Amino acid sequence: MCGVFGIRAPGRDVARLAYFGLHALQHRGQESAGIAVSDGGRLTVLRDLGLVAQVFDERTLSGLQGELAIGHTRYSTTGANAWANAQPLLHHGPTRTVAVGHNGNLVNVEALQERAGSRLASTSDSEVIAALVANDERPLTEALARTMRLLQGAATVVGLAEGKLFAFRDRHGFRPLVLGTLDGDPVVASESCALDLVGARLEREVRPGELVIADDGGVTVTQAVPEAQRSALCIFEFFYLARPIQPEQGMREQGIRMKFNPLAEVAGKRLVVVDDSIIRGSTTRQIVGMLFDAGAAEVHLRVSAPPVVSPCFYGMDFASEDEMIAARTDVEGVRAEIGATSLAYLSLEGLQAATRRPESALCRACLTRDYPTAVPVNAAKDRFESAPA
Ligand code: SF4
Repeated sequence: MCGVFGIRAPGRDVARLAYFGLHALQHRGQESAGIAVSDGGRLTVLRDLGLVAQVFDERTLSGLQGELAIGHTRYSTTGANAWANAQPLLHHGPTRTVAVGHNGNLVNVEALQERAGSRLASTSDSEVIAALVANDERPLTEALARTMRLLQGAATVVGLAEGKLFAFRDRHGFRPLVLGTLDGDPVVASESCALDLVGARLEREVRPGELVIADDGGVTVTQAVPEAQRSALCIFEFFYLARPIQPEQGMREQGIRMKFNPLAEVAGKRLVVVDDSIIRGSTTRQIVGMLFDAGAAEVHLRVSAPPVVSPCFYGMDFASEDEMIAARTDVEGVRAEIGATSLAYLSLEGLQAATRRPESALCRACLTRDYPTAVPVNAAKDRFESAPA
């Protein structure tokens, strides 16, 4: 998860545009938000824990002056929900200073930390991307291409360095990124809804392995690394990320009570309830229980995804396999645990057809256990907490 946004628009209030873009991407991350601006030479970053509207106000936005801006909304998938991990992250290297916002999880971050060779201030896997670019003696475009070659796993990135805006997608394209224009000025964002909100026009998706650089000379898009033979846009992007989900189980349960109030009319009725997915099962069990408590006669649950049976290593905050209800029992077992009258899942073929994309273009690993990359032995979210590199 996480939402990213970037814009280069001299003469416009780029921080305010980034703010609105982040509002549109708030559903991708609700733990922290931040904006970095550049006036060509100097980089200024404001980031904090909280929602976009809590982190920024009129006073702070008016202090962010520049020609370029990037923004980020975070949902932690590597590194704790702490101020140090709020993005954009800034890294000062011997060659340049770099700000980045990152969506996705890298699967080779330990090797990258060694290669980056400089001390990191955060415990997420994102600062290492900034460090690799900041420490590289080559010109910026070459440093970015080399960094992209080194990254394994999921990395949709926006950044600022040397008065330029850059953005790229990893070679598999796990997480989305779109390119748009606002009266000719370039805008990039995780999803086209952010372009709509700032009045920009969608031009196209950024392809896996493509690098976008915007500077005084215009916008350059290059295939900096070859697209993987098997590209792998996350199939969950099509149905799971379209609404807020709280990262902590306690907040989730509280959120359910605030979000759902069964109507008195459910009493005595046979209900069909549609949900987008079942991961641990605890949320679903609570909803089914609330409906029976309100007097429902039957609750028939239909799920618009197949059973989730394996963890995500590419930036979706799922449970570990032993916490996943469908990994340890069959459909009847899941039905019994959540207490529904009946339960049925959408088939993998049905979900695939609904995306209108070929199987070869998507990652479906948490449904099939067929991962498009090597996966790390230890992918615990907090594995860098005690010893930042
Ligand atoms: S493992 Fe699942 S959630 Fe993760 S990128 Fe692949 S399809 Fe998406």
